[in-house]
Amino acid sequence: MTDKNFDYWQGRAADLRIEGRAFIDGVYVDAADGGTFDCVSPIDGRTIARIADSGEAEVEAAVAAARRSFEAGVWANLNPRQRKKTMLKFGALIRQHADELSLLETLDAGKPIGDTTTVDIPGAAYCVEWFGEAIDKIGGEVAPADHHLVGLVTREAIGVVAAVVPWNFPILMAAWKFAPALAAGNSVILKPSEKSPLTAIRVAQLALEAGIPAGVFNVLPGAGNVGRLLAQHMDIDCIAFTGSTAVGKLIMQYAGQSNLKRTWLELGGKSPNIVLPDCPDLDRAAASAAGAIFYNMGEMCTAGSRLLVHRDIKDDFIARVLEQAKKWVPGHPLDPATGMGAIVDQIQLERVLGYVEAGRAESTLLCGGDRVEPIAGGYYLQPTIFEVKPTDRVAREEIFGPVLSVIVFDTIDEAVQIANDSDYGLAAAVWTGNLTTAHDVARKLRAGTVWVNCYDEGGDMNFPFGGFKQSGNGRDKSLHALEKYTELKSTLVRLR
Ligand code: NAD
Repeated sequence: MTDKNFDYWQGRAADLRIEGRAFIDGVYVDAADGGTFDCVSPIDGRTIARIADSGEAEVEAAVAAARRSFEAGVWANLNPRQRKKTMLKFGALIRQHADELSLLETLDAGKPIGDTTTVDIPGAAYCVEWFGEAIDKIGGEVAPADHHLVGLVTREAIGVVAAVVPWNFPILMAAWKFAPALAAGNSVILKPSEKSPLTAIRVAQLALEAGIPAGVFNVLPGAGNVGRLLAQHMDIDCIAFTGSTAVGKLIMQYAGQSNLKRTWLELGGKSPNIVLPDCPDLDRAAASAAGAIFYNMGEMCTAGSRLLVHRDIKDDFIARVLEQAKKWVPGHPLDPATGMGAIVDQIQLERVLGYVEAGRAESTLLCGGDRVEPIAGGYYLQPTIFEVKPTDRVAREEIFGPVLSVIVFDTIDEAVQIANDSDYGLAAAVWTGNLTTAHDVARKLRAGTVWVNCYDEGGDMNFPFGGFKQSGNGRDKSLHALEKYTELKSTLVRLR
């Protein structure tokens, strides 16, 4: 929780100077054709900045700067200890500017200030520091080989990395990509979502201030066409994408149609949260089930959007979850007391309301379902819960909003079958007091992360994050993330 009050944040917001230009080769620039788009705050629907609408000219300039800096070795060829020092300074600068960055994130994406100050901004700084700290401690291998040979297995920077990211955790998702990519010695082009470009644009300057050389870290605000141009570019070596499964499929095609750039995808989810009758603490499970879908307005790739409850505890447990839902009242995102902020924009609000309509037609509405306006002109939705059949649309498709689908089951096998009956496989959870059941179910769940008796735990950078099936490939976080931004090389030296 931030120690500053509502007045402080409103005062800071009124004084804020917002940078909206692209950052290429160490300087802020307008789009060459002068194009801009509006940055609308979902808090009240007001335009708060005009953002450079990057296009082909900016993509070409950024790729040229990134390539030049990579080939010159101004970053890639530094002793890893030096890169570490710069990354640590970059992390420290993010922390120093935490209030400003939290404010930008809240104004831009509607996230509660209590979250951006405690999760998004410190989380991004921690990520930058963690990969900085790691990079001078990992080396290659001397591999067994014939006696006349010395065989080295090393990892080296891949070259120019493009990162295309979404709007739900704008700077955190970006950091999960640019931090390991930079630490490994690559030059990076970051494309934030058009719905939330402000923090990415701002941290570019901090990276330069920290000592990351011009051209090594570039930021191109713009729409999906910028992502497409990057994915299709012949001189980009790797694209790291976080976003929807539909766009992820396109990114893979673009890579295949161009230069087969390495393609890493972190995509959608429809994660099951299974509560068994021997759950050791139903109150904690209910609070956690509500948090799993209402935190960040449900705009979470790992949202526990399918709550699977055993029939024996169904009535009791649903009553507890409904009680918890009452705590998630949409309020002003700049008020530190607010738990639920605004939906990111009108398009997303309408998309979620479309799902609510589908739910009203097919499923049973237990609470919520309506748009509210705690601040006139803003995009807010009540926490919403449906009881559903596993085949209902709201039970199958990713909604990316505060809408929970409750599914009742009779046996553990049935719960596992329903849980795995999804195109996605990002995360899953099971609540049980039995150790054997916990491990049995955890093994059967087809998901990149499984929580037992908790949800969304694991803020440490040590755990790989990513999905099975159509939730993507590759992993963010942990040392494994570095694998995405490096190529493996075998070097064989003949001694005689
Ligand atoms: P999106 O796919 O619409 O957009 C993501 C990014 O891709 C944006 O920067 C967008 O401008 C860009 N883009 C759009 N069209 C493009 C195209 N044709 N070519 C290249 N780039 C293009 O996703 P979103 O609405 O911003 O984010 C929500 C999605 O992100 C959800 O599906 C969510 O589950 C997913 N997500 C996944 C993770 C994860 O780690 N698995 C984390 C956060 C969000």
